[in-house]
Amino acid sequence: MKKEEIINLINNPEITLNHSNLPEEHHNIITAGRQYKKFMEALGIDLKDPNSKDTPYRVAKMFVTERRSFKEEPPELTLFPNTKKYDEYVVVKNIPYYSCCSHHHVVFYGQAYIAYHPDKQVLGISKFARVVQHFAAKPQIQEEMTQEIIEYLWKNIEPKGLMVVVTGKHMCMVSRGAKAEGSVTTTSAIKGEDNGFDKKEALTLFRNDLKL
Ligand SMILES: [Zn+2]
Repeated sequence: MKKEEIINLINNPEITLNHSNLPEEHHNIITAGRQYKKFMEALGIDLKDPNSKDTPYRVAKMFVTERRSFKEEPPELTLFPNTKKYDEYVVVKNIPYYSCCSHHHVVFYGQAYIAYHPDKQVLGISKFARVVQHFAAKPQIQEEMTQEIIEYLWKNIEPKGLMVVVTGKHMCMVSRGAKAEGSVTTTSAIKGEDNGFDKKEALTLFRNDLKL
């Protein structure tokens, strides 16, 4: 369906949507767009303003297409046998992500740092970025995102140990409320300490790189 047709359906809520021949993505953009239009009207925003007239469409599309990972399966992870018995930590640093806090629906962003101690298999390193970006996409809080990343990697890689550290700059804290410009939130999760995975060693491998 063309963008103009979707916008037309947002602007004409009396037209009943035919669920069966409408892709789910378009259906969701139209229904969310209709509601966002009401939200803007409630705030007194002039929807005839050329800059605002298609905003219900743009906002709905952003939430449906970019922040929709809660409806998508996490990326499939390609694992390789650890044939050479690599027995040190693997560290992937500075993985950028963008997310949106579920409390305010305002952007937060930062970087993820992952260290793991492989056992029988290793993961292709680009997949770490895919996993982080998948779990980052939806509206959520940083603590949940950190936990989801570690649970998914732990279950799939089955390493001896694993640590995930996430830094986040929360626009809801910077641009409103506390207006705490410069504040950074760090969250972390660890697994495998019972197997001898050493948090201190993992941290020294990326402590100096921790940043936004
Ligand atoms: Zn927030």
